[in-house]
Amino acid sequence: MTQTIQSPVNPSHAVFELFVQAQTCQDVKQHFAELCRKLHVDPKNSRSLYSTIKERLNFWKAKALWAKLDKRASQELYQQGTACINNKCLVLGAGPCGLRTAIELALLGAQVVVLEKREKFSRNNVLHLWPFTIYDLRELGAKMFYGKFCSGSLDHISIRQLQLILLKVCLLLGVEVHTAVEFQGLKEPSGENGWRAKIEPPSHPAAAFQFDVFISAGGGRFVPDGFQHKELRGKLAIGITANFINGNTTAEAQVPEISGVARIFNQKFFQQLLSQTAIDLENIVYYRDDTHYFVMTAKKKSLLERGVILQDFNDADQLLAPGNVDHVALCLYAHDAAYFSTGGQLPDLQFAQNHARKPDVAMFDFTCMHRSENASLVRERRGKKLLIALVGDCLVEPFWPLGTGIARGFLAAFDAAWMVRSWGMGVPHLKLLAERESIYQLLSQTTTDNTSKVYSKYSIDPKTRYQSVNLSSIQTHQVQHLYDADKSR
Ligand code: FAD
Repeated sequence: MTQTIQSPVNPSHAVFELFVQAQTCQDVKQHFAELCRKLHVDPKNSRSLYSTIKERLNFWKAKALWAKLDKRASQELYQQGTACINNKCLVLGAGPCGLRTAIELALLGAQVVVLEKREKFSRNNVLHLWPFTIYDLRELGAKMFYGKFCSGSLDHISIRQLQLILLKVCLLLGVEVHTAVEFQGLKEPSGENGWRAKIEPPSHPAAAFQFDVFISAGGGRFVPDGFQHKELRGKLAIGITANFINGNTTAEAQVPEISGVARIFNQKFFQQLLSQTAIDLENIVYYRDDTHYFVMTAKKKSLLERGVILQDFNDADQLLAPGNVDHVALCLYAHDAAYFSTGGQLPDLQFAQNHARKPDVAMFDFTCMHRSENASLVRERRGKKLLIALVGDCLVEPFWPLGTGIARGFLAAFDAAWMVRSWGMGVPHLKLLAERESIYQLLSQTTTDNTSKVYSKYSIDPKTRYQSVNLSSIQTHQVQHLYDADKSR
């Protein structure tokens, strides 16, 4: 008689599996803490955390992930995780760009703490991904964390899934991520203390963290002290996003996605939409992800005619003020646009819920886009220098329907990490500020065509990504104003 020998199920393997598959921010953090307990790893030992977990968890599935992360970590410019060994970085915001930056800083060997004011990752909205971001995320193990990641020809992901993937990588690399902690400002050095953050709740242990690098990734309209935003004012543009429940049926899976039908390319479609539904749009995008996601730019006149906007105002804030919007009419507008644009192939469109458990539909004003004048500055108080850098929407607000948010957000995350590397290696501050601002000048013009196609060579070194980059197009004397020092030095 043959006897089957069953290997005992290793409890840490099971917890690792739960961590990998976790679908909420809380579950990710909870399973990670449990994994550390099972492996007798102290999560506070951020610098040795990854290597210890790797050593103690070496079954096939984990090894496949370590192979990916090791490949990235082996890039020469990280200097085996020692390039920024003496740096401590505070990252404001666990949006995709804050988390992506945190990963690079951890790979450089810095101690990294991320503060996020929200408790949950709840954004269903779907982001368009440029090919380099898909490549980048695959190399970080995205497919293992989220099996559906960019399957087939799909080039998008919901914001929350993206955050979950990046959060998992962050935790494995020793980044401390604190949720439900709001950053309220910087505290200047005093006594023996260096730079710290004023946070809510004030008793949180992160309030004691002293750092020499501050990355602001607080999203659009978040302007950290010392930076100025330029307003890019276009003609009135009203965006609507809507998420409907995806039942994941075969019929739903067959409905063609719309990766951006702009009016100029398909006059007939928009005319028919107008005549049949009284909905007048400039463009519409449909992506199928965790939800059926639609983003469209609507014309004011049709919103007034369908009773979505109650009263006409020239001022966009007044026009879209909650009291001037009929929410039920807005839901109907978004529903009808979604129904028509998918040719009635999604007959049972029901709204998914947003973080407030309300139908996930929203109307935004795109008339003004913000862009920071500068990407970085150095502040010095009582002989203690702080490098401050902006990334993501906080640096340049994207026009969502064009889907530039993540691509430019990740480019800026890499550029910021490149600057932190120079900082860690002792490059004089005016030189690194001048270099950062030179690179920043390219960001708004980047497209899939004018960035390198050799994705496998992408690194935080700007020369691997931008086709032509002049690192000294801005000179040190032009960035003197970005060095803000007190009189006591
Ligand atoms: P965000 O993703 O905005 O992340 C910033 C993070 O910082 C947030 O998690 C925020 O809670 C946190 N934060 C802010 N202030 C503080 C503070 N004081 N303390 C602690 N934490 C703080 N793009 C699209 O392409 N399509 C869309 O449909 C779309 N919808 C969006 C809907 C919403 C509600 C938002 C906010 C953004 C949307 N975007 C969309 C933009 C897209 O999410 C960003 O381009 C992308 O997420 C990269 O942004 P980020 O990481 O720079 O900032």
